[in-house]
Amino acid sequence: MSLRPTIDFLLNDWLSVERLNQRERFADHSRETFDAVLDTCERIAREKYAPFNRLVDTQEPHFDGEKVVLPQATHDAQKAYAESGMLSAAQDYEVGGMQLPYTVEAAANAFFAMASVSIGSGMLSVGNANLLMAHGSDLQKQVFALNEFSGRWSGTMCLSEPQAGSSLSDVATRAVPDGADFEGDPLGPRYRLKGHKMWISAGEHELTENIVHLVLAKIPDEHGKLVPGVKGISLFIVPKKLVDTDGQLTGERNDVALAGLNHKCGWRGTTNTLLNFGEGKYPVRGSSGAIGYLVGQPGKGLQCMFHMMNEARIGVGMAATMLGMAGYHASLDYAKNRPQGRPMGAGGKDAAAPQVRIIEHADVKRMLLAQKSYAEGALALELYCARLVDEQHTGAPAAADDARLLLEVLTPIAKSWPSEWCLEANSLAIQVHGGYGYTRDFPVEQYWRDNRLNMIHEGTHGIQGMDLLGRKVLMENGKGLALLAGRVNATIERAIQIPELAAHANALGKALQDVGATTKAAWATANPTEALANAVPYLQAFGHTVLAWISLDVALAAHAAEDSPARTGRLAAARFFFHYELPKIGAWLQVVRTRDLTCADLAEDAF
Ligand SMILES: Cc1cc2nc3c(=O)[nH]c(=O)nc-3n(C[C@H](O)[C@H](O)[C@H](O)COP(=O)(O)OP(=O)(O)OC[C@H]3O[C@@H](n4cnc5c(N)ncnc54)[C@H](O)[C@@H]3O)c2cc1C
Repeated sequence: MSLRPTIDFLLNDWLSVERLNQRERFADHSRETFDAVLDTCERIAREKYAPFNRLVDTQEPHFDGEKVVLPQATHDAQKAYAESGMLSAAQDYEVGGMQLPYTVEAAANAFFAMASVSIGSGMLSVGNANLLMAHGSDLQKQVFALNEFSGRWSGTMCLSEPQAGSSLSDVATRAVPDGADFEGDPLGPRYRLKGHKMWISAGEHELTENIVHLVLAKIPDEHGKLVPGVKGISLFIVPKKLVDTDGQLTGERNDVALAGLNHKCGWRGTTNTLLNFGEGKYPVRGSSGAIGYLVGQPGKGLQCMFHMMNEARIGVGMAATMLGMAGYHASLDYAKNRPQGRPMGAGGKDAAAPQVRIIEHADVKRMLLAQKSYAEGALALELYCARLVDEQHTGAPAAADDARLLLEVLTPIAKSWPSEWCLEANSLAIQVHGGYGYTRDFPVEQYWRDNRLNMIHEGTHGIQGMDLLGRKVLMENGKGLALLAGRVNATIERAIQIPELAAHANALGKALQDVGATTKAAWATANPTEALANAVPYLQAFGHTVLAWISLDVALAAHAAEDSPARTGRLAAARFFFHYELPKIGAWLQVVRTRDLTCADLAEDAF
């Protein structure tokens, strides 16, 4: 079974991505150039990624005393990815890019996430370089970003610390000016950093010539104290190896040391590190302290970092989605081949009759259709968000601003919904395999382990829930929520005309009203403790409503297509979502609406 028909359908029949070619930036592109990119990525993923997904899980990165060793397959896969030009796909022609729409780039990257999420393609490096293109100086772009887009160097994001995970305001890494001439460095105001950064993905390896760390740190005030809160956070480029203004290595190692590798439940193909900055393991020019170059203004570091975090959140959502898809395809294949049991009803008790394949049992079909609706629905959501990114960057001013606000509201869903429900899909994929699914002889347990990360990193589920209910639906006087409601209502108006979809349209209308009323009820007392006590059930109900809308919109495109098994399957996936999933929102919204404090109020000693 191939992913390609689903991608083609969503890009062409649903999103009409070819229409983007009417915009000046994409004028050189056509359906053919988009297809060529997809063909190339599909091939590289098939040849260089998929065959090695288990290998990178069993041959975890290890430290040999000098360097971190990764399997040769990872080197080969990442080299092939860089050579395909995908790292700079969305960039301008003048810096070596293809000016590809982000929607097509995201779709093409889906093949890699499905083939081997943990070998990884370029999410961190591209996100890091994109941040520098938006906030860096001209020389920082030239020296650091462009070398990441070419694949010569790779990038990280260094936010978390052992004592500061969700609470970034408690970051304790310090940055002090490096010498009297610190402001005169052409690479940016030069500082010395000291501190510990925990959980840093791709923080140490030999895959590229250099590693560009983007590090959040605080500049002490005149009394040597760190400014409390996020306002004191600044952003620095800290290269593993120091470079000159031409991007050549100077031969000096920066004072960034690997303190240890984390041994993870899944996603083992990517190194994960504790890094010590500036402890003196590699003194630079006679003293300890890692050299870092300020990006943007002091104190505005978190704002800059959000550029990378928002991109990474859509990337995390896509990774979760494609793991869900991988489990769906694997369990579908298994269910078509595994004989077990006999049908219910007449003749079912006849042990002399041959067994049926498990795909013939209603409960197995339920588990398969659930996976299909979760994974294909999530893929549609991620591509819709990617299309909004293109609108934000290339649309007319009013449309671009709407896209920006819609993205604000949808990003917590794009990150969290697939993280939860495509993980559930992976659990169902294991269930379809029975006992075999619980062994390492089949791939599905690895998909679940890999996927379990996604509710944790890039803002945990709890943090995303609070971001949605505490900030996003309220911002700009609720305009983002109103815009979203407008889009949902437009889908409802179209679907209500079609007898097969009208009941879904009505159910979606009711869900939208309930979410709106519940948002108001949550904030009725204007007390954040009460409003946000059930932020995760709110996130779940909001997410299910968004997915119901996306499923219905996709079903409209499916309905317009010629009859085929794929069309039947797409309409069935929507029907499944409306019959089995959307009704769940009632229980979630109930506790939000009543500001239920069962959990929040329970005394610690009662646990
Ligand atoms: C494999 C992996 C890769 C990672 N890669 C990177 C990376 O490349 N760069 C980077 O900077 N970080 C990275 N992280 C770190 C990741 O972003 C953090 O783990 C995450 O932000 C949570 O922080 P924490 O682990 O300290 O958990 P904590 O913040 O201690 O959270 C523990 C629990 O408490 C809850 N909680 C915390 N605060 C609140 C609150 N105020 N209200 C309600 N609930 C709350 C959380 O939701 C969570 O359930 C990675 C983590 C992992 C596991």
